[in-house]
Amino acid sequence: MTLSRGSHYLAIPGPSVMPDEVLREMHRPAPNIYTGELHEIVDSIIPDLKQVAQTSGQVAVYICNGHGAWEAATTNLFSRGDRVLGLCTGRFTHGWADMVAPFGLQVERLDFGRRAAIDLDAVEAALAADTGHDIKAIWAVHVDTATSVRNDIPGLRKLLDRLGHPALLVIDAVASLGVDEFRMDEWGVDVTITASQKGLMTPPGLGFVYFSEKAAAAREQADLVSGYWDWKPRVSAEAFYQYFCGTAPTHHLYGLRKALNLMMDEGMERIWKRHDALAGAVWAAVDGWGAAGPLELNIADPAIRSRGVTSIRAGKENGTRLRDWVGAHAGVTLGIGLGMETEADPASDGFFRIGHMGYVNAQMVMGALGAIDTGLKATGIPHGPGALEAASRVLSKA
Ligand SMILES: *Cc1c(COP(=O)(O)O)cnc(C)c1O
Repeated sequence: MTLSRGSHYLAIPGPSVMPDEVLREMHRPAPNIYTGELHEIVDSIIPDLKQVAQTSGQVAVYICNGHGAWEAATTNLFSRGDRVLGLCTGRFTHGWADMVAPFGLQVERLDFGRRAAIDLDAVEAALAADTGHDIKAIWAVHVDTATSVRNDIPGLRKLLDRLGHPALLVIDAVASLGVDEFRMDEWGVDVTITASQKGLMTPPGLGFVYFSEKAAAAREQADLVSGYWDWKPRVSAEAFYQYFCGTAPTHHLYGLRKALNLMMDEGMERIWKRHDALAGAVWAAVDGWGAAGPLELNIADPAIRSRGVTSIRAGKENGTRLRDWVGAHAGVTLGIGLGMETEADPASDGFFRIGHMGYVNAQMVMGALGAIDTGLKATGIPHGPGALEAASRVLSKA
């Protein structure tokens, strides 16, 4: 007997669930790349992508994942030897800084640990010490997908403005765009980086770099600009092949067009509110389980939590035991612990993550929580009662 037959829910923070409409849209023969519908799709997705990030700046689209978009932003902004302040709140700014090491940037890392957001006072001290304005950019994540912390991006802009520091504000919003409230122009973000497989509900394979006029000016000075990643021809293409520096990602574009239709129909404010409510249900459930047992939200303060991914401390080995059970017996794949290694727990087995981003609704989240509740009982991991009751109460009030 198995309880896992039926629709499988990949409840991880990317790739997220892809709507059937998106997948159906992609199921078609190769389209004409010379003229017609595909060209209209490219023209029409640009304004919608800008709407998603709340910007009137430019957006370049790449055939790549988030790592590729990191490289795209890096090569357009910097020259060998440039100083950058990397703000680390988990795994992802470290990942970027490690990846760009061959470019010879001087990345100074401020590490805020695995359970806290960026401390603006520490950033202020680092910027104030830079009296010569050598630091070219601040690089930070909006949401760190490993720790599930959400950083105060408008706070960083206010700090730069107050100090009169000219550094560019570069934000990795791969895990938050189309999930958490994000307002690129209002928040004074110069570069926003994202990818297709999280809030945008499209298979992995497209990367996006949004940039302001100030960032466009930095591109004119950068000596790392390369043929493929150069964002300039991609936003001012005179011939269609220049949009993607070669063959267009035909089927991804059809899928993305459909995903953006879904997003525009719902509206950004309502998308953010839906994620707020669903995240609240997840937090209530984890608090309920944690009332009697080892489970605990990695981020204690709700004001700095992601609304699309929740990282949970489960006690030694319990994360992996629980994930294995719900994956094998309940039709839900939970996210692994990421970047939480310690000497006592070298594989982050004491952690798991729940992805609740993109195309998710109340029954999916309640289903995942119900599967976890069942898994806790089946594996004998101690937990408090009433977690599902607490979650459904949150959603009933939304
Ligand atoms: C997923 C993610 C990335 C990397 O994306 P890939 O597509 O796996 O390269 C980068 N930053 C953040 C915050 C992410 O969540």
